[in-house]
This record gives sequence, structure tokens and C-alpha cells, in this order.
Amino acid sequence: MIRVTLDLTCSICDHDQFHLPVRADERQQVRCANCTAFKCYSADLEKAMITLARERQRRSEQQRVNAA
Ligand SMILES: [Zn+2]
Repeated sequence: MIRVTLDLTCSICDHDQFHLPVRADERQQVRCANCTAFKCYSADLEKAMITLARERQRRSEQQRVNAA
């Protein structure tokens, strides 16, 4: 497991650090580094991160439009 800080927070304790599985073992679980609550499967997390990145990009583009 590796410990990483994500742009996500634990729904239980609001912690933003998570343990990610490093090996491609059968259960790709992402768990909160603080309370060890199950967050999601890493495949879902990847999708969530992509969605989040897109959302952020869209927001920064909107800010540029508003500033002009
Ligand atoms: Zn937690």
C-alpha cells in the first residue's frame, strides 16, 4: 500500500490521505489512511479523479471568461 494525498476527503473523518494498493491484487481497494474506512475501488477512483480534473479545468476556463 502507498499513502497518498488526494483531492478527495473521507466521508467518515474528512481526512484527505488514502492508502492505495500497489500490486494488482484481486481487491483494488482504496482506504482512508486515518480511519481505514473503505473509500472505493481504485478503478472507480481513477474515474473520479478524471472527472474532478475535467471539472476543475472547466471551472478555471469559466473564471478566465468572467475575468475578461
Ligand atoms: Zn477516514
